[in-house]
Amino acid sequence: MAVEQDQPSIAAGGLTVAEQSLQTLKQAVRGSVLRPADDGFDSARHIWNGMIDRNPAAIVRCVGAADVIAAVNFAREHDLALAVRGGGHSAAGSSVCDRGLMIDLSPMKGIRVDPARRVARAEPGVTQGEFDRETQAFGLATTGGVVSTTGIAGLTLGGGIGWLGRTHGLSCDNLLSVDIVTADGQLHTASAEENADLFWAVRGGGGNFGVVTSFEYRLHEVGPTVLAGLLVWRRPMARDVLRAFREFTQAAPENASAYAGLATSPDGVPIVLIIAFHHGPTEEGEALFAPLRRFGPPVADMIQPMPYTAAQQMLDAANPPGNRVYWKSAVLRNIEDDVLDAIVDGAATIPSPLSAALIEFYGGATNRVGIQDTAYPLRDATYALNAISAWTDPAHDDANIRWSRGLWEAMRPFSPGSVYVNFLGVGDEGADRVTAAYGANYARLAQSKKTYDPTNLFRLNHNIMPAD
Ligand SMILES: Cc1cc2nc3c(=O)[nH]c(=O)nc-3n(C[C@H](O)[C@H](O)[C@H](O)COP(=O)(O)OP(=O)(O)OC[C@H]3O[C@@H](n4cnc5c(N)ncnc54)[C@H](O)[C@@H]3O)c2cc1C
Repeated sequence: MAVEQDQPSIAAGGLTVAEQSLQTLKQAVRGSVLRPADDGFDSARHIWNGMIDRNPAAIVRCVGAADVIAAVNFAREHDLALAVRGGGHSAAGSSVCDRGLMIDLSPMKGIRVDPARRVARAEPGVTQGEFDRETQAFGLATTGGVVSTTGIAGLTLGGGIGWLGRTHGLSCDNLLSVDIVTADGQLHTASAEENADLFWAVRGGGGNFGVVTSFEYRLHEVGPTVLAGLLVWRRPMARDVLRAFREFTQAAPENASAYAGLATSPDGVPIVLIIAFHHGPTEEGEALFAPLRRFGPPVADMIQPMPYTAAQQMLDAANPPGNRVYWKSAVLRNIEDDVLDAIVDGAATIPSPLSAALIEFYGGATNRVGIQDTAYPLRDATYALNAISAWTDPAHDDANIRWSRGLWEAMRPFSPGSVYVNFLGVGDEGADRVTAAYGANYARLAQSKKTYDPTNLFRLNHNIMPAD
């Protein structure tokens, strides 16, 4: 299990010492401390994945670093399970726990852009869409996720893959510094110059090292208009379309990217689609996408010039909160014909119209950073397959989970065994998968964990055990 829920409880039986102290915590924080009977508790405990239904004993809704320090100290002093929520998009559900304390950072929404220095500072409750809106006011952006409702916090700490990655690297590659509250309740600034070992660890090591209260990013000129959109064909075209997608990725310049998916249209028709993105001169993008747009031809061509902020929202509708979601993901060595055939065969049995098999394409600037330069280890990955199951009826859990697992199993012969830590899913991702996600950097991460969190206070995550 990725998420263990075996820590001491403050909810069970009468007024414990911790329960009494909760009153003190309530008075100490500027935000709020919610108990199960309080208004807002239920909405605060729910996260994006509708499969996750957990009940913390209390939720600290933090509005500043002082609240985070108080909450971390409280959890440590009372030996409580501690979950940390940024944007709440963890598919694995690690941002909420049963019985223990949940630190909810979603009220921390501050963003300050310095256009002259091309730097932005953002608090951990900020979503990708909020960040993009503020930075695009100045024609600036940095790499971020492809769904605008995802939180920048968890995304950046795990790496941060997005459309701009091939040009500007991962979100974590654009990180200049963080402010972080470690397990001892101390706030540190970590950057290339200050606490450099901690800065190395948070760029890919997830939430293992403390609670980040501020992210400082390097920005780049982007847009404001980009060329992006979906191309859709009927499923019988899948093999040919995926080969055309492969050809596109083999020749694409770094300011262009695309994902390919096998899914179901809103009116229930099995489809194959390419999601395309280009930033730069529009004519250049038009020329680049022309062969794909002519191919078949597609039954729908939605590629058009649009604001970068709109391109960042083009997959939002397909990823609403509240669906039951189960993911299984694998880095792929290549997407030769045998791999594509296995994906098409696997997609033929998708049990839910909300599910998809998604081939992601990386490379470019992301892969020019050394494997050991940051904690994020997947610097040689060019493709990954995500078997994304989404459905609404709990009675269909088994069928959907089985489908994702089945497609992932079919990918194993084509995968080096690595996986992006932020794409690890619910429940059955064992310790070996977590170790595989940190790859070559696991041993150094374990040493950093020993330094900054020797008792593993921050363990409700894709956990790195402190070195012996
Ligand atoms: C629809 C969807 C689309 C996605 N698209 C992309 C994508 O394009 N690219 C990509 O790289 N990833 C993507 N992801 C994966 C995403 O990066 C992870 O789910 C990530 O954890 C989301 O961050 P969050 O803050 O919203 O998550 P949360 O659920 O709030 O947090 C997840 C974990 O991150 C840690 N954490 C969060 N905030 C902090 C903090 N301030 N300090 C310390 N630890 C913290 C905690 O361990 C927490 O359990 C996507 C996820 C979804 C659901």
